[in-house]
Amino acid sequence: MRRRDALTVGALAAYVLAAQRATGQDAEQRWEIRRVAMVRDQIKARGVRDLAVLDAMQSVPRHRFIPAEVRGSAYVDSPLPIGFDQTISQPYIVARMTELLEVEKHHRVLEIGTGSGYQAAVLASLSDRVFSVEIVPELAKRADETLRSVGFRHVRIRTGDGYKGWSEHAPFDRIMVTAAPPELPEALVDQMALGGRLLAPVGRTSETQRLVLVTKDAEGRVRRRPGLAVRFVPMVRSESPR
Ligand code: SAH
Repeated sequence: MRRRDALTVGALAAYVLAAQRATGQDAEQRWEIRRVAMVRDQIKARGVRDLAVLDAMQSVPRHRFIPAEVRGSAYVDSPLPIGFDQTISQPYIVARMTELLEVEKHHRVLEIGTGSGYQAAVLASLSDRVFSVEIVPELAKRADETLRSVGFRHVRIRTGDGYKGWSEHAPFDRIMVTAAPPELPEALVDQMALGGRLLAPVGRTSETQRLVLVTKDAEGRVRRRPGLAVRFVPMVRSESPR
């Protein structure tokens, strides 16, 4: 190749790279605009007020947690399929549950049902120590990769049965269950710290689920308060002991 041609090719390559980068930035900006609308119209409009939660919902790139086939719907007002018959929750439900959990930076937080990893990312925006248990190994692996690539390195994910919690890291100040057990799993209540809070959608069928808030006071007394009606995928029992 002659020197002039080589220069032209070099300039062209630089131009293409710059253009690609600009397109990438444009794409991120377009996602961000949708995210602003999501927070305003779906979350603030329905009464979520906690500024830290609103910030987290604004900053976590939800579309990165959504499979390519349905990514275009990442910011719509509904749950979405993430494969393996599972779903990522509606943005409003993620925000409302996170607000109800009252997470602080120093809290040790456990999530049951990692799924896409999105709820874990929202929790990890608020706390330095997040643990999450997922029963489907492929989902656990994918969520782990996504969380790392998005920059949430302080989330630890384990493949396992959430009914057992994660005893090695207990007690937890906060526990969020994102699959519905028929009854409150006792092991999870046992793994709550004094002064702890736990949220779980409890119910035998998707029609009868209620979001239950469990608190444990400084003396270890446990109180349960049923709240809003919700619909989560069932929390399954593992066939083999893990
Ligand atoms: N929090 C997730 C959505 C949860 S969907 C998100 O942000 O995307 C419910 C998840 O719970 C599914 O991924 C399902 O595989 C998982 N799950 C169901 N039963 C479970 C169990 N016993 N232990 C751990 N995870 C379970």
